Amino acid sequence: MPEKMEGIRIEIPSRYKVNIDREKCKICKRCTINCTFDTLSFNGERIVADHDNCVACQRCSAKCPQEAITIIDNQMAFPFHAAYDERIRRIGWEQASTGGVMLASCGNDLPYPSIFDDLVLDAAQVTNPAIDPLREPIETKCFLGAKPAKLEFTETGDEITLKTNLPPNIELSTPIMVGQMSLGSISYNAQIALFKAALEVGTLVGTGEGGLHPDFYKYGKIINSEVASGRFGVDANYLKKVAALEIKIGQGAKPGHGGHLPGEKTSKLISETRMIPKGTDALSPYPHHDIYSIEDLQQLIFALKEATRYRVPVGVKIAAVHNSAAIASGMVRAGADFITLDGFRGGTGATPRIIRDHAGIPIELAIATVDQRLREEGIRHKTTLCAGGSIRYSADLVKALALGADVAMICTPVLIAMGCRVCQQCHRGTCAWGIATQNPAYSQRLNIEVGARRIANLFHAWTEELREICGAMGIDSVESFIGNRDRLRYVGPNPKIADIMDVKHAGEAWG
Ligand code: SF4
Ligand code: SF4
Repeated sequence: MPEKMEGIRIEIPSRYKVNIDREKCKICKRCTINCTFDTLSFNGERIVADHDNCVACQRCSAKCPQEAITIIDNQMAFPFHAAYDERIRRIGWEQASTGGVMLASCGNDLPYPSIFDDLVLDAAQVTNPAIDPLREPIETKCFLGAKPAKLEFTETGDEITLKTNLPPNIELSTPIMVGQMSLGSISYNAQIALFKAALEVGTLVGTGEGGLHPDFYKYGKIINSEVASGRFGVDANYLKKVAALEIKIGQGAKPGHGGHLPGEKTSKLISETRMIPKGTDALSPYPHHDIYSIEDLQQLIFALKEATRYRVPVGVKIAAVHNSAAIASGMVRAGADFITLDGFRGGTGATPRIIRDHAGIPIELAIATVDQRLREEGIRHKTTLCAGGSIRYSADLVKALALGADVAMICTPVLIAMGCRVCQQCHRGTCAWGIATQNPAYSQRLNIEVGARRIANLFHAWTEELREICGAMGIDSVESFIGNRDRLRYVGPNPKIADIMDVKHAGEAWG
């Protein structure tokens, strides 16, 4: 067991410096109220800063009416060393002081190369003319759920009717959904903003593993609810309300890991949502204790379909790992109407830093290999392939679709749309912008209507840009673009990556 002793904490240089322009500062104290990290205070004479506490969330600087505050990097506190850089030294000091596992949030921030950035798109010229999206329709609609292998019809006189029983499918106006974020990891106001935006856009929002608060049952038709190893909040009444169910086996930010919401964060609101007593720890085990094989997974999918009377699609989510393609094949054969792959840059409210930064694989590789394997096995139509974990902006969305995803799942981009500054302190529960906090005083800083408007705007902007790129490639329907890897070319340094994704190098022609 790690032991603590007097004086053991190493004095680590502050990462940022809060620079207050004394000429401009009128000592209105607004910054001291806005800082949620105990950095700024009034000493009876002037505003003073405890630089060690600053996380560069920028709340003080944004709210200062005099523009008197600037946050600067304290780089010179760390003499240069290419191997033992600032990050490595901080980890060593922190662990020598605490003897414990370091927690982190947001996504993996190590400078691994982005494969999306090494891919370029084709454009139509001469023989395959481009389409002007302002003058001609380009369809972005898609459907979440299994599709039949073929359609059968009956003909009676002039009347033709569909004979095939269609599995449950959800119509999405655009191939983008909000991924899984629980009430607990994000605030009440942030969750309502997501629901309102999704209603306007015509898409789904994941509830994360925390269940669904009864206040939100009215949003059920746009909710993709998670069934995680802790089974928090899962009961027959709630299952009747939602549009889709997603069994979480793994998550990109913490492959092979469970979850832990400490008792002090289990407020009345969270206890009602997770259906656990107030003040108790919410521990979700690393594995599902009833799933040790594909057959076990099949049992749970079957149970959830029975419980929802085959009304909703039931999906399964895994972290993108080395063997994703084989696992995905098993998931589809087990009856998953949709499968979600979560890449190693996916966000989270809290996870051990070592897992966030070093486990899992890039989403680009997982999408391409899973799509290819399901096509080869003739079962691609039996599932909708969703992908998340570092789909940062519309260009990544387009490339993810071309690699083989039907739908992108996004989380960090919607947090950014709500005003997140990516300070990576979500696990501390004191988000100064009211997004990743359960403190009602901070949560109310996020205006629900403004938050919803911004998220809806982001979806509209991505969808418009998707139309633009489809038009430039001469494609009039996003569905015919899915898995069209021949419209991508690789420009990165490692041809092996292109081989794995089955993407040609730039300069190679079609065929
Ligand atoms: S933590 Fe945020 S609000 Fe506090 S001083 Fe730093 S940037 Fe300003
Ligand atoms: S949600 Fe809040 S705490 Fe988390 S990264 Fe964004 S601004 Fe920081």
